[in-house]
Amino acid sequence: MDKKYILPMVPLRGLTVFPYMVLHFDVGRGKSVKAIEEAMLRNQLVFLVTQKEAEIDDPSIDDIYNVGTITKVKQMLKLPGEVVRVLVEGISRAELKNLISSESFFEVEVIERVDDAELQKDSEIEALMRSVISAFEDYISLTSKLSLDNLYNVVSIEDPGRLSDVITEYINLNQSQNQELLECFDVKARLEKLLEFLLKELDILDIEKKINMRVHKQIDKVQKEYYLREQLRAIKAELGESDEIDQEVEEYEEKIAKKNLPDEVKEKALEELKRFSRMSPGSAESSVIRTYIDWILDLPWNEETKDILDLKRAEKILNEDHYGLEKVKERILEFLAVRSYHEKMKSPILCLVGPPGVGKTSLGRSIARAMNRKFVRMSLGGVRDEAEIRGHRRTYVGAIPGGIINSLKIAGSKNPVFLLDEIDKMSSDFRGDPASAMLEVLDPEQNSTYRDHYLDLPFDLSKVLFITTANTLDTIPAPLLDRMEVIYVSGYTELEKLHIAKGYLVPKILKEHGVGDNVIKIQDSAIIGIISEYTREAGVRALEQNIAKVVRKSIKKIIEDGDKSVKVGKQNLQRYLGKPIYRIDKANLKNKIGMVTGLAWTRVGGDTLTVEASTMPGSGKLTLTGQLGDVMKESAQAGFSYIRANADILGIDSDFYKKLDIHVHVPEGAIPKDGPSAGITMVTAMVSAIKKVPVKGDIAMTGEITLTGKVLPIGGLKEKVLAAHRAGITKIIAPIENKRDLDEIPQSVKKKLEFKFVSSIDEVLKMSLVEEKQDANKVSGT
Ligand code: ADP
Repeated sequence: MDKKYILPMVPLRGLTVFPYMVLHFDVGRGKSVKAIEEAMLRNQLVFLVTQKEAEIDDPSIDDIYNVGTITKVKQMLKLPGEVVRVLVEGISRAELKNLISSESFFEVEVIERVDDAELQKDSEIEALMRSVISAFEDYISLTSKLSLDNLYNVVSIEDPGRLSDVITEYINLNQSQNQELLECFDVKARLEKLLEFLLKELDILDIEKKINMRVHKQIDKVQKEYYLREQLRAIKAELGESDEIDQEVEEYEEKIAKKNLPDEVKEKALEELKRFSRMSPGSAESSVIRTYIDWILDLPWNEETKDILDLKRAEKILNEDHYGLEKVKERILEFLAVRSYHEKMKSPILCLVGPPGVGKTSLGRSIARAMNRKFVRMSLGGVRDEAEIRGHRRTYVGAIPGGIINSLKIAGSKNPVFLLDEIDKMSSDFRGDPASAMLEVLDPEQNSTYRDHYLDLPFDLSKVLFITTANTLDTIPAPLLDRMEVIYVSGYTELEKLHIAKGYLVPKILKEHGVGDNVIKIQDSAIIGIISEYTREAGVRALEQNIAKVVRKSIKKIIEDGDKSVKVGKQNLQRYLGKPIYRIDKANLKNKIGMVTGLAWTRVGGDTLTVEASTMPGSGKLTLTGQLGDVMKESAQAGFSYIRANADILGIDSDFYKKLDIHVHVPEGAIPKDGPSAGITMVTAMVSAIKKVPVKGDIAMTGEITLTGKVLPIGGLKEKVLAAHRAGITKIIAPIENKRDLDEIPQSVKKKLEFKFVSSIDEVLKMSLVEEKQDANKVSGT
């Protein structure tokens, strides 16, 4: 009983209309408008059918589907520009049978296809309906396209065909799916298809949901950060702080990108910068981070200078900078030669040992110049705290990196010559052991990843050329000493000092002060005067200072007096430097009872020292004063025991100790004295005091004594002899085994001195004591 109709037809683009559907749409194409107008004239019925392809503007009958919907136009509204808006209601499915006309509008013959009303009883249909409804409910719960009320209205539809069509309206199907459903005249097949589409849709929704959740999680994090950051920015803007910090962060970003940083360092810098960007610019913490980033940016992580390893050039530079020191220069050149040979090989660390002012530091500087490296110096004298080397952790208020990192920043290259001054003067206490930190710095196995506490990042020290200096090796911890190649730099003679002053110090100082040597003329006699009367040192540091003082005063004089030039000689030296400090005191060279000149070797070079002894009524007590070290005290005890045991031979009353106390004193108590080498000096002083026999004033002596009176060798003869010479001594008594050291003593000094090498104390006493009979008249004092 399908009915036939002749109806105007409107092709639809991208839209499928189902029975029961109420919708409005705009009609713009002329043919379609006419069709609507025609329908309104007739029974308001119009056949709506979907175009196969929406793009076609003027479709032929082949371009549209075969099945559409008969609808009733409920309202028609003319809009401006030939467009009409219509409100339609779907009535029933219909199949296109014939095209009647397509002239001014499409007119077609269609057959209506109405649903079978009997189907409601079918339990299979019932089951299908339930499934569709439950799937639809799920769909709605996922998409929330329908309010609960409306959902209820939909699911309570009892007619299966209608249910299917109404539900189709609410779900998101594509055109071909819609068309398929429209073409299903059989209600059961339609429900099945709908269920299939619904389940598929649910599947897709489920996957979509999962993807969404995943994406959301990521987006959430990014968005949250973005949101918070924006909020922060807004707060900062409100506080008037925003620009400042953003600009700074940008600048830092640029600097970090430009600087050649190792990956780990770069990462850390960016991480800190991120923290920095969240802080308010004035806060204490932000300035801590700023300082840290600045440190990272200031360090030479990858910057290095190119070595020049030309030995001829190196030799020339060493000679340019230093007078004499032949052996030292030779050793240094050897060292450089080995290095240039095996550039990769880890060479030992040079340790320059010697008294102050002999040029250890300036040799280090020359080595740097010779190799074309940067030079830095760090003094370890008095360093007790490990943190001075390795820095404090950043948690510590006011923390900064240690000396090593700090020096590298100053050097500005990762391969400088690094002079560690006074490595013998480090000490350790409760604040940690600086020597062990030093050990790590100098260990080629470890120092490529040296970690400063503050930076907490590995820094490569392996390309640094470390040189250490020390006054003595005694106090350098053995593990450190093991790593070093020791080069001794000893003190200078007067003549050498004169050469150094003339050839190096005076020109250097004049240049520093910007005056020529024709303006200030310093004569040799003045330099000799300074050396002998204003300084008493192994090196030339005080000499340099005094020359500088002369130059300064001369400049002042030139300005004040308007002179063209100044000449400084021995005669007018006092005008510049005041009264001489050390004048060889002839009185000291006189024969005296109980007073003997000894020779000592201290950290600052050789020195003369006077040992005094006196006796007083008592009971054999020995008193020792004058800051003597334990070894020296024991040496005095041994000497005393020797005298008691050998009183007879020495011509002393063997009971002398029952009636006498002896006091041995070594003046100039501020300088601690130790070592066994004053042994013979103390015995001589005691014997002289007990026997009341004077000691020759022009003799100085050094040597260790045993209980049996043997004289044992001592160290540092060269420094001691130079010191004796400075003090105006002419005769020196030394242990026989030290005779071999004579080679080291410069000829100019040697020829002015008389040496006596002895093996027993008898010989010492015989040479130094003034025999009563012949020399009694020379006694001065008591
Ligand atoms: P140290 O490090 O051994 O204490 P320095 O290197 O500070 O001594 O030397 C002190 C000064 O003496 C420096 O100006 C140095 O150039 C100069 N000097 C030392 N020895 C010589 C030398 N042999 N020739 C030229 N100048 C020297």
